[in-house]
Amino acid sequence: MDGEIAPSRSPLGHLRGALGFCRNGVRQMAKLVLDIALPTLCVACREPVDGAGVCAACWAKLSFIAPPYCPRLGIPFVYDPGPDMLSMEAIADPPAYTRARAAVRYDEVARTLVHALKYQDRTDLAPTMGRWMARAGHELLGGADMLIPVPLHWRRAWRRRYNQSGALAHAIGEASGVKLRGDLLARVRATEQQVGLSRAQRASNVQGAFEVSRERRGEVAGRRVVVIDDVLTSGATLDACARALLRAKAAQVDVLVFARVVDSPKAPI
Ligand SMILES: [Zn+2]
Repeated sequence: MDGEIAPSRSPLGHLRGALGFCRNGVRQMAKLVLDIALPTLCVACREPVDGAGVCAACWAKLSFIAPPYCPRLGIPFVYDPGPDMLSMEAIADPPAYTRARAAVRYDEVARTLVHALKYQDRTDLAPTMGRWMARAGHELLGGADMLIPVPLHWRRAWRRRYNQSGALAHAIGEASGVKLRGDLLARVRATEQQVGLSRAQRASNVQGAFEVSRERRGEVAGRRVVVIDDVLTSGATLDACARALLRAKAAQVDVLVFARVVDSPKAPI
């Protein structure tokens, strides 16, 4: 009779199993049904697209940042001034981090991608955005010991359910092989959104907001860290993160973002 009788299971067990399936599977099922019913749309222009992300036309509109740029801040130059020429910003107001790199300029299409990832649960965009970032940051990643995403305060993380910087850092880790350490840097103070604040207000808003706890400092000391975020605007948040990591005796802190604000093409000085 072996094989004819299914392993005995009470009706309650069946019910529990079915409920468990519903809970875990309903989201995936809904997504599967939608994927079959609807073609995937370009996040920027809503035209049908193969795979995730942006269509070829929107991809062409993204401004990927390529050399020549400031070796410290990654700000693109209009012409190549030769090696080791720094941007005016790097000389006038040097940040705590050593180098910054960004995949693209922050413009319309870049903003659409960032917002889709951040506010519309489009975590499926993270692998593509992360690959672009890994390419833009290959010099930084080559010597890095760990990736640290800019942490959200727990209250915001709870509302948003996931950290977009963490999703990007995970994708960069997959692409580069550099270890992701999302547990070392904490946001110890909730801060106002940086949007709408002046440069000086942004700096004071995030001052002292980040910390490596005393018991975790040994894991940061002497290490080369790359901090990951979605957008670099004034750099105040990333600067505050770098300061916290340097207080924990990190050997070097670089930053890698998806998009950076570039005011206008800058000539080197
Ligand atoms: Zn498009």
